[in-house]
Amino acid sequence: MTANQPHILIIEDDASMARFLQTLLRSHQYGVEAAAGGAEGLRCLSGRTPDLVLLDLGLGDMDGVALLRELRAWSAMPVIVISAREREAEKVEALDAGADDYLTKPFGAQELLARIRVALRRPGRDAELPLQLGDITVDPAARRVCKGGEPLHLTPTEYKLLLFLLRHAEKVVTHRQILSAVWGPAHVEHHEYVRVHMSQLRQKLEAQPAHPRILLTEPGIGYRLVVP
Ligand code: CA
Repeated sequence: MTANQPHILIIEDDASMARFLQTLLRSHQYGVEAAAGGAEGLRCLSGRTPDLVLLDLGLGDMDGVALLRELRAWSAMPVIVISAREREAEKVEALDAGADDYLTKPFGAQELLARIRVALRRPGRDAELPLQLGDITVDPAARRVCKGGEPLHLTPTEYKLLLFLLRHAEKVVTHRQILSAVWGPAHVEHHEYVRVHMSQLRQKLEAQPAHPRILLTEPGIGYRLVVP
């Protein structure tokens, strides 16, 4: 193991799942540590700080969301939650509590590795630099959006929404996170705002708004902007 190898902490009480994850990640040159429960996970976190945490939500001794809240009180390290189907509701709770992404069991190895790569990508790029989304260019410094070279008119709310999604590109964002950032914390229950404005944005940005390729829906959770 080398010093600049990303180090991942797995907090998972299911021994066979933990073994699968360890083998997979080690074979992809990640440094791995595994904790079999919440208490052990917190102990590991207080020792060597990992670059990323894979957190199961159904831990034997502790609620994964509670552990995440505790962690978020002092750290912004990337956290990907792993949930079982019967814990769908907790997934949204975990994302609202600051998880970076989620996977539902059973998931594929390639999917997990892709999510880890995205989560580990440092937010190094300058938020003011122009960004390319297929044939769409967003220039935050000039507050300008172009499609195929032609200026695109977005309302201030649509623009704010697009910018928020861009700043979280490739990551899932919940309805509450979008509402809080774009409309303000008083509006976090108004899911219909997001639905309406997302539909408008798709009309303007997507080649086929009914089959979006940039602004994807995460059913029951929120949205994910992907760079085509
Ligand atoms: Ca479990």
